[in-house]
Amino acid sequence: MNKIIAANWKMNKNSKEAAETIKELSAFLNNSLPPKREVIIFPSFISLEASTHALSSSVLQFGAQDVYPAKDGAFTGEISPSMILDAGAAWVLTGHSERRHIIKEENTLVGQKTSFALASGLNVIACVGETLEEREAGKLYDVLTTQLNQTLAKLPTPLSPERLVIAYEPVWAIGTGKTAQTEDIIEAHAIIRELLKDIIGTSVSQTRILYGGSVKPENAREILELDNVEGLLVGGASLKAESFAKIIQA
Ligand code: PGA
Repeated sequence: MNKIIAANWKMNKNSKEAAETIKELSAFLNNSLPPKREVIIFPSFISLEASTHALSSSVLQFGAQDVYPAKDGAFTGEISPSMILDAGAAWVLTGHSERRHIIKEENTLVGQKTSFALASGLNVIACVGETLEEREAGKLYDVLTTQLNQTLAKLPTPLSPERLVIAYEPVWAIGTGKTAQTEDIIEAHAIIRELLKDIIGTSVSQTRILYGGSVKPENAREILELDNVEGLLVGGASLKAESFAKIIQA
């Protein structure tokens, strides 16, 4: 399967800035991707449509940073899967650590979002990862087990493996400039691979696992070559078209 390079723009860029960055990125890439690569951009909800419409044809794919697990109704401030699809996006992030820790989203809600989004036709990148405190207390395995078990509790069947992606993002490496050590990434990705076999069975255990946390042009290639790393989820270094283009081409 192709490696995925994803850009999480978080709460940055208005519609105009988002569309400009998409155009610049496409120019840096000559509107083509290296072999075996897929690129997904996650703008804010409000600049999603401007991003998907920035170019008449593009090699880029798009997604939303969150979703609410209901078709429609009285959910003030929330966005449904069909609204995201209607904006021209095919993907969604669930369980990003900033939603877990700042917005206090629980594992059960992350699980509901993941299964509802998949059942509604969106593809999902579900994020998991431990805090520094949990890591230092030796709880890496337990945290990943709980998060994955609950995130993947009610997956729709059948589910083709390319539609569900896991992102391992150690919370202490996000936005801190501290990339996880190679051994840490290998260890966590191997745990996730084993857990995926248990939880979703061998049929979809080929699920791609991305690494995220202070990825930059200088370290992207080395991380992409590690065992069980099938892509990258990039925050800060994806905001500038030139640096993100370098990561895509790493
Ligand atoms: P970062 O963010 O690359 O700025 O560390 C990654 C993420 O939060 O997805």
